[in-house]
Amino acid sequence: MKYISTRGNAPAKSFTEILLGGLAPDGGLYLPEQYPQVTRAELDVWRKLSYADLAFAVLSKFATDIPANDLRAIINKTYTTAIYSNGRADSDFTQITPLRTLEPGVHILELSNGPTLAFKDMAMQLLGNLFEYALDKQHAELNILGATSGDTGSAAEYAMRGKRGIRVFMLSPHGKMSGFQRAQMYSLQDPNIFNIAINGIFDDAQDMVKAVSNDHAFKAKYKIGTVNSINWARVSAQIVYYFKGYFAATKSNDEQVAFSVPSGNFGNICAGHIARMMGLPIGQLILATNENDVLDEFFRTGVYRPRGTDHTYETSSPSMDISKASNFERFVFDLVGRDGAKVREFWSKVDAASSSDTAAFDIRGTSYWEALPKFDFASGKSTHQDRLKTICELWEEYGVMIDPHTADGLKVGLEQRRPSLPLICLETALPAKFAETIQEALGREPERPAALEGIEKLPQHFDTLPPDVAQLKAFIAARVQS
Ligand SMILES: *Cc1c(COP(=O)(O)O)cnc(C)c1O
Repeated sequence: MKYISTRGNAPAKSFTEILLGGLAPDGGLYLPEQYPQVTRAELDVWRKLSYADLAFAVLSKFATDIPANDLRAIINKTYTTAIYSNGRADSDFTQITPLRTLEPGVHILELSNGPTLAFKDMAMQLLGNLFEYALDKQHAELNILGATSGDTGSAAEYAMRGKRGIRVFMLSPHGKMSGFQRAQMYSLQDPNIFNIAINGIFDDAQDMVKAVSNDHAFKAKYKIGTVNSINWARVSAQIVYYFKGYFAATKSNDEQVAFSVPSGNFGNICAGHIARMMGLPIGQLILATNENDVLDEFFRTGVYRPRGTDHTYETSSPSMDISKASNFERFVFDLVGRDGAKVREFWSKVDAASSSDTAAFDIRGTSYWEALPKFDFASGKSTHQDRLKTICELWEEYGVMIDPHTADGLKVGLEQRRPSLPLICLETALPAKFAETIQEALGREPERPAALEGIEKLPQHFDTLPPDVAQLKAFIAARVQS
């Protein structure tokens, strides 16, 4: 299996060649040259597999340059009940992603039982093991540099902690995260994890990361890399749970389902799109946004209009607060018939328009607009009031507590699904991470897995830096040399 760039101007590469990198050299994102196809006979066999065996079946179609025994070992050590249960016993955690049925035909797929209580652990834990394996083979090292306002940073740290050949330098805005998020990250004592609290806001931290990454000499000398959501291995790992959820919610491979997906950077739902392109019988893919509705607008109107910072809102589903969706380019590549020149044209406008609020591209009246329905996406948006109402209704009707992101997905999913299709809502975080909104909706504290009880009291470990790129470079250089 070779991977090509969505912008059509980069040499084809293998899975391990793109594993540790980011964008393709032409600025595009990598996708398989063709999507592997899953036969009906394979689906019948896969239906009976455990999560780890299913992950092996799916991922061996993509990671064709990792020897089968090695890939199996990496997967078996990743998808264990111990990692995906946090010491809880109130669900069937042997399934890794248990399906919770609210009523016949309405389900929640639990994807947030990993160490940081969000679905990002599903892919990030695998990435940690894949990185360690690949670096070991190449006798190489990698220093991951990132900025976080919460979820991604902690998922990356918990995936990379204690891994040979890897250090993590994670910037976060000093005093701007919730007590729980801070405790999750700063309580890690592993010597390869460096938490750096920046005296500034998230954008300052993000700008520092960009400045360091743009210094190509520094980047090469100190082997700086990232683990952001465009990483192909992350997307491929997410494909697995669409299969798992489908099998859990249906009795035969003749049935179709709808998935609803709380979306930000389009990484999660992109994996659903690919699962469907491989032959998984998904009817609708339902994309849910919060008030930051750039993707909902595209699917409803055909206009893609990235937002400026003035129109990127801080909401109570913060992991979906995006101004443009980095993985969306992967879907558009398929939508335009894999025409790299067209994607280049569209994204030259996206890059030019990114600081204003003007339309980057508009597919109305083109053949692409006519092609869109055949991909069968639906979309909708959910607001703070909708989240509170959905959280409240679910608690009252079913005694089930969900987080604000999952509430966005459920609200839009119920609104948009065709009644003939069973609905599977992806749970992207646990309510324990968002106590403030749960308090507002239910007037009580969220449940917290026993393993995380009292983490705010653990000793915290971090350094503080001003928003100064030179000081950040010196900090990294001192730790990488020693
Ligand atoms: C990252 C995240 C999302 C958005 O996922 P994308 O892959 O960026 O679309 C939704 N909910 C939660 C809790 C997240 O952490």
